[in-house]
Formats: sequence, C-alpha cells, structure tokens
Amino acid sequence: MEIKIVKERRKTLLLKIVSTNKILVKAPIKLSDDKISEFISSKKKWFENKVKKMEGLENFANLFHFDKYIYEFGEPIMETKELGIDFEKFSARKKNMIIKEQYMSMFSYIRERVKEFCDYYGFIVKEVNPCASTCKWGSFSSSNEMKINFKAIILPKDLIYYIIVHELCHSKFMNHKPQFWKEVEKYCPNYKILRQKIKEYSFLLKKDTISF
Ligand SMILES: [Zn+2]
Repeated sequence: MEIKIVKERRKTLLLKIVSTNKILVKAPIKLSDDKISEFISSKKKWFENKVKKMEGLENFANLFHFDKYIYEFGEPIMETKELGIDFEKFSARKKNMIIKEQYMSMFSYIRERVKEFCDYYGFIVKEVNPCASTCKWGSFSSSNEMKINFKAIILPKDLIYYIIVHELCHSKFMNHKPQFWKEVEKYCPNYKILRQKIKEYSFLLKKDTISF
C-alpha cells in the first residue's frame, strides 16, 4: 500500500483512497508525523473494508470481455467476430464502432418496454432515445423526452426495468425526494436492492473500462 502525505494549509486531516493500493492523506502543515501515523492507523479498518469492496467490483468488471463478446441481459449472447467476416482484421477503432452499432441496434428492446409500461400505466413519453453518457443510466426532460444509456441493454432485465421506472417517475417528480421514491416503489417494490445492485455495473459507464 502506497501512502502519500501532503501537508497543506488546512485545519483537518483528510484521507482519500486513490486506488486499491494507493491512499492520499492531506494534513495541516504543523501537525506532527506521529499524529498523522496515528490518524492513518485509526482509519485502517475503514479503508481495508473500502478497498475490499473496490476489489470486489473490479473482479466483477473483469468477468466481462467486451472485445470478445456482445452481452445482453448480463450474459454473453454472441462473439464479436460474428459481427462481420473481416471483423478480426479491423483496427481497434473500427471494431469499437461496430460493437457500439450492435448495442445501438439492440436498443429497440428498451423502447418497446417503455411503450408497454406507458400503455399499461398511463405514463406519457414523447420520445425514448439512446444516449452515451459516461455518468448516467438515464434522464428525463421537462419536455417528456426520455434518454436511456445504450449500454443499459448489457444489464440484467430487472435493472433495465428499474432504470425505466426510475426515469418515468421523473415525469411526475423532477427530483429524488421521498415522494419520488414512493412512486418508484409502486412499480418496483424491490427498488432499494436494485439501486445497490446497479452500482456493481457502474464500471460500464466509465470510458476507461470500455472503449466503445
Ligand atoms: Zn433520477
């Protein structure tokens, strides 16, 4: 474990986990090294637990091989080389483009589920479009346009359903206040579990883990 200590003009000590093997400690200029070591020791259990959790998520992300397989509902459904006879010969950039196109073409599943849900429960949505945000699974605008991240199709079905419900409930409440969650709960009683579960997949949104 690499520990980097930075002394700066500040009043309190701060410990930040940079990666699974690196921590950063920011300390007031005049604080003694003993006091800093004491602080780090007192936080040992806390950061060990955090790191364990981070490693768990990393291991989970490593189970996916996006260069080799196309995934749907959390499972590989085909090999990327099936995307074209010359696929293997293409540059990485072109491969990524083809992979992204494939996922985009699978977006119709999400559009259909949104339509079904709206027809059944009387929600109104003008448009449902895929987006490629690196931080969000979806959004809902005041003009009733819904955007769902195209990578959502990679998630298990219960999580896709949760995203759809979440965004549709924003047509009634444009915030995350208790009323909003009550509405989500009506259609998705186990939403609390799903909110936790979806965090395991947040690596999908990051540009550095997936290049397409
Ligand atoms: Zn929201």
